[in-house]
Amino acid sequence: MKKVIVIGAGFSGISAATALATQGYEVKVLEKNEIAGGRARVFEAQGFKFDMGPSWYWMPDVFDRYFEAFGAKTSDFYDLIRLDPSYTVCFGENDFVDIPAKMTDFKALVEKLEPGSAAQLDKFLAQAEYKYQVGINDLVYKPSRSLLEFVDLRLLLALFRMDVFSSIHSHIRKFFKHPKIIQLMEFPILFLGALPKNTPALYSLMNYADISLGTWYPQGGMHKIIEGMVKLAESKGVQFLYNQEVSQILIENKTAKKIITSQGEFTADAIVASADYNHVETRLLPPNYRSYSDSYWDKRVMAPSSLIFYLGLNKKIEGLRHHTLFFDVPFMPHAQEIYENPAWPREPLFYLSVPSKTDPSVAPPEGENMFILIPVAPDLPDNEEIREKYYHQVMDRLESLIGQKVREAVVYKRSYAHRDFQADYHAFKGNAYGLANTLLQTAILKPSLKSKKVKNLYYTGQLTVPGPGVPPSLISGQVVAREVAKELK
Ligand SMILES: Cc1cc2nc3c(=O)[nH]c(=O)nc-3n(C[C@H](O)[C@H](O)[C@H](O)COP(=O)(O)OP(=O)(O)OC[C@H]3O[C@@H](n4cnc5c(N)ncnc54)[C@H](O)[C@@H]3O)c2cc1C
Repeated sequence: MKKVIVIGAGFSGISAATALATQGYEVKVLEKNEIAGGRARVFEAQGFKFDMGPSWYWMPDVFDRYFEAFGAKTSDFYDLIRLDPSYTVCFGENDFVDIPAKMTDFKALVEKLEPGSAAQLDKFLAQAEYKYQVGINDLVYKPSRSLLEFVDLRLLLALFRMDVFSSIHSHIRKFFKHPKIIQLMEFPILFLGALPKNTPALYSLMNYADISLGTWYPQGGMHKIIEGMVKLAESKGVQFLYNQEVSQILIENKTAKKIITSQGEFTADAIVASADYNHVETRLLPPNYRSYSDSYWDKRVMAPSSLIFYLGLNKKIEGLRHHTLFFDVPFMPHAQEIYENPAWPREPLFYLSVPSKTDPSVAPPEGENMFILIPVAPDLPDNEEIREKYYHQVMDRLESLIGQKVREAVVYKRSYAHRDFQADYHAFKGNAYGLANTLLQTAILKPSLKSKKVKNLYYTGQLTVPGPGVPPSLISGQVVAREVAKELK
């Protein structure tokens, strides 16, 4: 039986491992941390259970397809509920807008803001749905190793309708004028890690995901997905080895021969690295076997990092929803401080998740579980003093906007930012979400999922195709597994 080693037990690594084990390979996953999940790990403290990373369950069809590929269903592992409202946006004092899950209610909301926009929304979403169907069902499953993969008449014709060369910024403005609608439409683009003006209009598919497919939540928390995936992987024969930090990949004749970890040595016929691509290249491989130079990496546009606060409260906070976006300060200055002139923001937008509003299992009965995320540029100086300053800045705003004291109820607090991303995941520049989805970092223009120098070394995850986010990471693992299997055969 041929052996495959997967480095890293995040979404992409588990996905690749499961797909390879299903095809009959002996698969071991080596993970540096003590549990699976990578950026989607979980921790418990004082009766609170915190999902450390993803909190938005979008594109449920991708998760369904993932489990179905291995003869299982999401419901075998977790119960999903659709949130309604999907989320809330705070545009300022006394200006909280619930975004309804039902399409008729959503249309009524936009029509009230801008007469005629409900009809425009129909047109906008029809195009977005087309892009989603072609993009998510077809394009993202391409390994993007060669342009030839895209030379197929049906796909070429489709690409014309996909708005690859115009920006989502101008695309949205062709349909809508009201600033609140524009902000609602641009919000999902923030997941892609670049400014709307630098993001192809192809990605209005994210609006289809948001508005039409909805926001879901697995009861018990996002880590339930990982737990389900690990169980499924183990049922296919995958072996997970934790606290196994890979420190070196030894190469002979352009072939990876041995993997050295903190606990031992492993051999394999192929390696799939799901750890941060840059880390594997610069720390695990001899310099002459890197596919990309330092200057290549320096020129990559990284998606943002994040400053996060995990907070446990000893009381309930009235009026808050599961997800709230605080757009109560202007978007552009903060966006520029993330993307154009990287700096700690003067007045940050932020996101608050209170999963205990939906899920009693994540906090003690009278308590509240809060997750605050401020998107920030990667590679910034990060220390306790800076974090504390933002904690109070955001809390001042939150308390004033909701008219309730929050800080005095905080009985558990942990912050997390660049230094932690680096220490926990070897994240390049402390990134949270990998590479930005700009036009010049799409498909074959992303770091390749196969090493250019080492025959049996492959990459998967948010720094290669198709890109950042949980659904793309699931797909990335499946795509790389197909490539590995092709070559091992
Ligand atoms: C704060 C935050 C919020 C997010 N929110 C969302 C969201 O709401 N919805 C969404 O869809 N996406 C979200 N994302 C993005 C999503 O979580 C990621 O894109 C996805 O989890 C990446 O998975 P991955 O497998 O590529 O990488 P990772 O999860 O980073 O997995 C890589 C694994 O490799 C391990 N590793 C690294 N180096 C070594 C080594 N030397 N030896 C052994 N193991 C190693 C790491 O420990 C890690 O477990 C969020 C991300 C963050 C950080």
